[in-house]
Parts: sequence; structure tokens; C-alpha cells
Amino acid sequence: MRPALVGVPYDASSSFLRGAAGAPAAIRDALHSRAGNPWAERLVEVASPHVIEDIGDVEFANDADPRAAISSAVRTIAASRPFIALGGDHSITYPIIRGLHAAVGPMTILQIDAHPDLYDEFEGDRFSHACPFARIMEEGLASRLVQVGIRAMTGHGRDQARRFGVEQIDMRAWADGARPALTGRVYVSLDLDGIDPAFAPGVAHREPGGLSAREVLNLLDTLGGDLIGADIVEFVPAQDLGGLTAALAAKLVKELTAQFLIESD
Ligand code: MN
Ligand code: MN
Repeated sequence: MRPALVGVPYDASSSFLRGAAGAPAAIRDALHSRAGNPWAERLVEVASPHVIEDIGDVEFANDADPRAAISSAVRTIAASRPFIALGGDHSITYPIIRGLHAAVGPMTILQIDAHPDLYDEFEGDRFSHACPFARIMEEGLASRLVQVGIRAMTGHGRDQARRFGVEQIDMRAWADGARPALTGRVYVSLDLDGIDPAFAPGVAHREPGGLSAREVLNLLDTLGGDLIGADIVEFVPAQDLGGLTAALAAKLVKELTAQFLIESD
């Protein structure tokens, strides 16, 4: 089914560098750049208005709770179709999953990330971009959480992963050949810092030793289960080098779109 593309220009829950709010516009520019073409690798034409319907950005009124605005927008979209959300910092995934769960019920989440983002609270903020998956698991919004690309763990992160039954394929396990086995409804949360900074330098927290762009593309191409939604988060355009990260994010939008289209065949 044709996915909706929705921007979530929110970065007020970043612990270190702001700037991810500028990502949706930068990714859209790359998606429509004449440097690329509108075809995905499976030879499906995707980056044209009649395939991806860009419904604009979630609007944040000055006095409204931004997380409520995100949940409400996603609930409306997910009632009728799959979607790709462009962050924003990773804190947006909690309200996205709340909205998605309200529309379709529990799901498996595949999180690609250098960090587990399972902090109970971070610097006094329970809604920090370091915490979204603790909130998601506490509320039982996901039946499984599978994390890939992890290479910046802490003892607290390990304890939280055990507490919530999170399945982790860290970079050492990935190098040994471990891969996720997914079934049922699957949501993909793609923190660009899960990819090695050599491929995706435009992030707030560069963590060497990550996945290659090709490894992530192959992972998405061979994803099990039924993809129902995805987010691409933590792109900070001011940290980018020569548009590398923007081009990669745009390619990920194209390849995810091809997955949605193929599933509905
Ligand atoms: Mn991260
Ligand atoms: Mn993250």
C-alpha cells in the first residue's frame, strides 16, 4: 500500500545537540534532488507524488503538548495506511508508537541504533531521546523489541533490557552473524547513528564501529513480517558532511517505500 510521508520536526528532547528538527526538510530536498532518480533498487518507481504521499509536517501549536500532537496525527494516519515518519530526535518514537498502537494494537519493533534508548530517565527528563523505548515497554505497546547495531551500552541499559525482555543484537553479535527473525506486524525505528558515522556523519552522537549503509539496506530488504510503519530519526543537518547523511536518509525512504508497495502486491 502507498505510504504517507510525514515530517516530525521536533528536537526539544535531545540531550546534547539540537538541530534534528531541520531534518524533514533536508531529507525531502535530497529525495527530490536531481542527483538521484525516483526508482528503488527493486525497480519500483517510488519518489514521485503519486507513490509517496507527502502529507507535510505534524503541526505543533505553541501551547499544546507536542507528544499528544504526534500521537494524534499518527493515530489518524495509521487507521488507513502505513507511513514513514521523518524525525526529529528519537524521543518522537514513543508518541508515534502510542498513536500506532491505538490504531492497530501491539507490534514488533525493530530498532536500529547505536544506543538502546532504555534509560528510565536522562538528566531529569523521562521523555528524553535516551528514554523512548523504556516508556514503550512499560506501557506494553510492543510485543517484542529487537535492537540491532547497539555499541554504546551502559550497566543501566543492560538492566533495563533484561527487565523489559528486549532482544539485543549488538555489533559484536552482528559481526558473529546474528540476525533478527521477525514475524507479524513490524515497525522499524531507524536512528541514523546506528549506521557507522563514516556513512552517516550527520548525527549528534557519532559512535564508530557501526553498520554499513549496505548492511542496513540488506536488513530492510529481507525484513520478515508485515511492515506497518517506520521512522528515520536523529539526522542533524548541521553535522552532515557534503550531504552524505541526507542522501542516505532519502535512499532509506525510497527503499522502505518499495517494501510497503511490494507487501500490498
Ligand atoms: Mn542513537
Ligand atoms: Mn536512538
